[in-house]
Amino acid sequence: MLENLKPQAADKILELMQFYREDPRDNKVDLGVGVYKDATGHTPIMRAVKAAEKQLWEQETTKSYTALSGDPAFGAAMRDLVLADTVPADRVAAIATPGGTGAIRQAFELARLANPDTTVWTSNPTWPNHLSILKFMGLPNREYAYFDEASCTVDFDAMMASLADVKAGDVVLLHGCCHNPTGANLTLDQYGKVADLIAEKGALALVDIAYQGFGDGLEEDAAPTRLLASKLPEMMIAASCSKNFGVYRERAGCLMAISERAEQTANAQGSLNFLNRQNYSFPPDHGARLVTMILTDPALKADWMAELEEVRQGMLTLRQNLADELRQRTNSDRFDFIAQHRGMFSRIGATPEEVLKIREDFGIYMVGDSRMNIAGLNDRTVPLLAEAIAKTCA
Ligand code: PMP
Repeated sequence: MLENLKPQAADKILELMQFYREDPRDNKVDLGVGVYKDATGHTPIMRAVKAAEKQLWEQETTKSYTALSGDPAFGAAMRDLVLADTVPADRVAAIATPGGTGAIRQAFELARLANPDTTVWTSNPTWPNHLSILKFMGLPNREYAYFDEASCTVDFDAMMASLADVKAGDVVLLHGCCHNPTGANLTLDQYGKVADLIAEKGALALVDIAYQGFGDGLEEDAAPTRLLASKLPEMMIAASCSKNFGVYRERAGCLMAISERAEQTANAQGSLNFLNRQNYSFPPDHGARLVTMILTDPALKADWMAELEEVRQGMLTLRQNLADELRQRTNSDRFDFIAQHRGMFSRIGATPEEVLKIREDFGIYMVGDSRMNIAGLNDRTVPLLAEAIAKTCA
């Protein structure tokens, strides 16, 4: 029977990583996969994570199962991190999931349980795995306009115009901050208008927040999610701990479902637990436990916040330096948007041919849609990239 299996299309980003590895040039630069890297190209274990792991090794006495929801303390810690006191705790159901991807998958599953006829609306473009999972699940998907290729900013009027077709019972997937792949984000005011539209339509918002702390700061990056939660009767939030805690391979994520009334929360929690049971039973605990320890221990939390802030500032500096170099080399403000974009990515509006030429001529690897990982740069490679873009895209 297994001979019936067909080859799966290669994941574009993982394929790019392979090409990069095979490139013999010493001065090659990897701006592909979405992993934070320091100036030496290393993805470090954060200090607070290492300290929590040490404590855990000393204190943990069992590896027995937790609960189907994962440890409820993790759900509570994530609720506080993302929502603070925006909504009463008794309206929020939460489960631990394998990474943010697991949370997104379970959010789609929950939406389908609640409304088998739901259509999921995604930004054009969005993180490709959103589309891939929806297609695999057979869930109808529609795109809303988002990115203006010419200015590399959000086309908000076009976005609102396409969302006018949203129906009651549809899901509208929004990036909470640091939009992937574009780096272009809505203003808080615009998020408010989107919330009003979603409320008016009777749709359900799903916020994917995978980069809290990478954009304008921990609180600032959570502000859109909190605004939506304060305006909407119900909502889902898929949060990833992979990037902001640097625990990629531990697979730590959380799905929250906010019900309109506290009496509905037990039912939502039961459905989330059920979905965990059906898909993988108990969710992974190690990464979630480290995150819980960090968020509930003032000293660990302070150290984590300090290191996250260093990471954030480092990326902002790289953005500014790249925009400055491009201004000089192109004698124009055409690439100033790079300094305005937020998060780990920027889509720079180069054509696939230009992206390929930059790879071939300069050994600089970015995704075919011209998304680059800002964290893949350092002081030495910023001028190289500016040179490559100025020479290729002028
Ligand atoms: N959402 C977005 C927008 C992402 O970019 C990512 C990671 N690339 C995720 C969710 C999920 O990340 P993970 O499953 O590794 O936690």
